[in-house]
Amino acid sequence: MFHCRLVNPVHHDPALLLELPQLAQRWLLDCGDLHALSLHELLQIDTVFVSHAHIDHWIGLDALMRAQLFGDRPLRVLGPKGILDMLAGRLAGYAWNLVSRSQFVVEGYEWTGSDWESRHFPCRDRFEGRQAPPGLPPLENWSLRWVELQHGVPCLGYRLESPPSFRFREDCPHPPGPWIANLKQKMAAGDSDGTLMVGGTQRLLSDLSQWVRVLPTYQLAYITDTRLDPSTRARIVEAFGPTRVLWCEAAFLESQRELAEAKLHSTATEAARLACELQCERLHLFHLSRRTQGLADEHLREARQTFAETYIDQQSAEKV
Ligand SMILES: [Zn+2]
Repeated sequence: MFHCRLVNPVHHDPALLLELPQLAQRWLLDCGDLHALSLHELLQIDTVFVSHAHIDHWIGLDALMRAQLFGDRPLRVLGPKGILDMLAGRLAGYAWNLVSRSQFVVEGYEWTGSDWESRHFPCRDRFEGRQAPPGLPPLENWSLRWVELQHGVPCLGYRLESPPSFRFREDCPHPPGPWIANLKQKMAAGDSDGTLMVGGTQRLLSDLSQWVRVLPTYQLAYITDTRLDPSTRARIVEAFGPTRVLWCEAAFLESQRELAEAKLHSTATEAARLACELQCERLHLFHLSRRTQGLADEHLREARQTFAETYIDQQSAEKV
């Protein structure tokens, strides 16, 4: 099962905690207030995808660094244009004279509009940043897509897709052995040429692969703090393609559309339209405006008129 949990109630700071199946680490989509997380949970987080730098989306970074300061695993922070300088400014805001033995490193990744720039901030160097090779970090074989949103400041939406997985057919006539792991690895890399040794016989990959079923991947999109007019939705659909589950802000109701346009946020109806266009199975609404406190049911009712499988829950568990 794949578990996602909003750290805070839907009217409060956004932070969506992802528990990766079969892995000990956790990922965060946005990093608002994290006081609701235990120390154990804070220690498990190793990657943060920041949509943008408004304070309600990454004020929790200090709590996360505080928890991990003497750990030996890097904390990876991905975000839109400007995030590296803001990260440097954030880290320069504290005194670091007594932490020189720590192995902790904050690794920053910034989408510049054309590539991912990277800077590492080692604790032992008082978090002074140094340029790192460009490119995304390896994300445990998950694939990442992203899209620039419309919020008046650099803002990214993200889509995560689980690695391909395979299951052997029960009627496979070949004896088990190391060839199974090798075959899965080659199929994951899209390699269908060559042979593998199976029980003392060389067999073609193309023949062996017929005994394997490719399981559907899990895709999750996270869209927040943006207008969702038709052109922005079209850009998201083009960047993401069909996506099983969408977590989407719905700050306002359709009757508050003018407010949504002025504040560069979305309505529940617009979020539901995006779910239809992405061919989603489920839509989870979050980041409702505090002006609509107590009206969550209305957001839900409105979105369900366009997309029936809409939910407002703090957590979800979906079969992968
Ligand atoms: Zn914002």
